[in-house]
Order: sequence, then C-alpha cells, then structure tokens
Amino acid sequence: MPLVNSKEMFEHAYKDGYAIGAFNCNNMEIVQAIVDAAKECNSPVILQVSAGARKYAKPAYLKKLVEAAVEDTGLPIVLHLDHGADFEICKDCIDNGFTSVMIDCSSKPFEENIAETRRVVEYAHAHVPYVTVEAELGTLAGVEDDVKVEFGKSSYTRPEDVEEFVKRTGCDSLAIAIGTSHGAYKFKPEQCTRDPETGILLPPPLRFDILDEVSKRLPGFPIVLHGSSSVNQEYVKIINDHGGKLVDAVGVPEQQLRRAAGLAVCKINIDSDLRLAMTAGIRQHFEEHPDHFDPRQYVGDGRAYVKQLVAHKIRDVVGSADVLDPVTKEFK
Ligand SMILES: [Zn+2]
Repeated sequence: MPLVNSKEMFEHAYKDGYAIGAFNCNNMEIVQAIVDAAKECNSPVILQVSAGARKYAKPAYLKKLVEAAVEDTGLPIVLHLDHGADFEICKDCIDNGFTSVMIDCSSKPFEENIAETRRVVEYAHAHVPYVTVEAELGTLAGVEDDVKVEFGKSSYTRPEDVEEFVKRTGCDSLAIAIGTSHGAYKFKPEQCTRDPETGILLPPPLRFDILDEVSKRLPGFPIVLHGSSSVNQEYVKIINDHGGKLVDAVGVPEQQLRRAAGLAVCKINIDSDLRLAMTAGIRQHFEEHPDHFDPRQYVGDGRAYVKQLVAHKIRDVVGSADVLDPVTKEFK
C-alpha cells in the first residue's frame, strides 16, 4: 500500500472512539522504532516531520526513510508536515510526496489565518492524489523546534470561532488549544500541584468543556491535539539515574489523552516522549557499557526504548491497536 492521506484513518478513528498517534521523526532509528511498534500493534500511524527535522536530516532523506517504512511494513502510513509556517513550505512538501500537511498560522490574526489556510487547502485538494490539510486555532504554550510561545502568550481555542474557520478554509482537521503544551517542560511548577507521595508535578487538567463545545459545533469533524507527550516518569528516572539532569519535566497525564481520543480527537501528537525514551536508552547503555563505541549498540538500545514506548502509546493512550487486519493491513 502506498502512503495515504489522513482522511480514511480519521473517519474510522472518529467513529470507533480512538485516535491515530502522530509521532515526530528525524532519523532512521526513530522511523524504524515507530513503524515496528505500529506493525506489532496492527495500527495505522502518522509519521510527521517538522521544519527542524527537515533542517536536520534533509527532506530527501526523510522522504526515502518513510517510503522504506511503507515498503517494509505494508501499513497505512501518512507522511505529514508538522507546523508548516506558510504556503511555500506546504507547497514544497505537497510537491515532494507528503500526503498531509499542517498550515500553522495560529499566531496570526483570524482573517490572516483563514486566508493562508485557504490558500494551502486549495493547492492540497487540487493535488492528485488528494492531500489532507490540518489547521490550527488557538495557541499552545511551550517550545517545539522553531515554534516558541511563552506561557503568558498562549490562549485557548474559542469554540465560537471554529465553524466559520472550518467552513471558510475547507481544512480537513483542526488543532485546538485546550491546555496541552509543547516540549518536555509543559507547565511551570507554580501552575502544578505536587503529588505528596511521589513528588511528581501534576499539571492543570485539560479543558474538556472546550473540546465538547467545539465538537458540538463541528459534528464528525476530526480534532487534533498537539503537545501531547506525557513525560513518562520511568524514562525521566532512567535518564536522571544515569547522569542526566531533567528537573521538574512534566507532561499531560495519559488518562486525559485516552479520554480525548474517545471523543472528537482523532490525532494525538507525540514528540518529547520519544526523545526521552531514546535518551534513556542511550544514557543507560553508556553508563552500563563504558567500553562500547559502536553506535549500533547504543543507538540500537535507544531505538528499542522508543519502540516499546510507541507500542504503549498505541495500545494504552491513543487506542488504535488491532484496528487493522494483520494480513491485509486494511481497516477491519
Ligand atoms: Zn505542535
């Protein structure tokens, strides 16, 4: 099966109450870890590439890696541009085989966001085959590659804006801000409460009231959550036990994401958690085997940790395990 766009995936996900994991990738081992986990779980998957990943690995390499993943697994895989800043980068990706793009003009005024999104949608939908477009309303706090928003500058999505925005842009899915945040330090300690037993920071809960209101206004329409790493403490502990120093890193609790996946949320973006798993595997390897110097040994351990993490996300968080027939790789 060739690369696919996100249309059919989201229809199934919406109807059956799960989401598709959208995992960021920027090298071969991360791509392999993600798709090997997806294959083991009989799950479709979205591989997404940010501007930073394009800079790091070069678009041609990333494209070929993802094509190799399709060939190797036979799974339905979307190659998605994460946070396209303008029409030009979206067009470049569409022209080079991406099957889905995000145009992120969420920091621009409403009318500008509509105009630029509309421009991308017209180009993407005229493309053969049809390329799906994700847009964003509302602003997430945090840091993700080139996207940086200070905590005070973030804003929740206004449900009263979503119908007009979707109608006028024609976008295929919409990322909204309900309290998720980019990066491994999603919330300041003063925004959180501290679990008295474990000492772990607990962030403010997601705004499910906004999600409910948005989905009432856009029945059946796929919603996207960015910044949805949970900063699993087992990986933070491995990192810190092996020479790392991550203090008060905090994410979105997985139960809240699971709940969102059962509602209108059809795509959940996870990046920082993969970085943490890779770092945990490599740090542990270095400390346990100070004589090793073959990158296949330590990067291989990192890859194994990322695979384990992605399998957990697919089974327990986004809930897309076993939605594909293991033989034909079609939706059941
Ligand atoms: Zn994002």
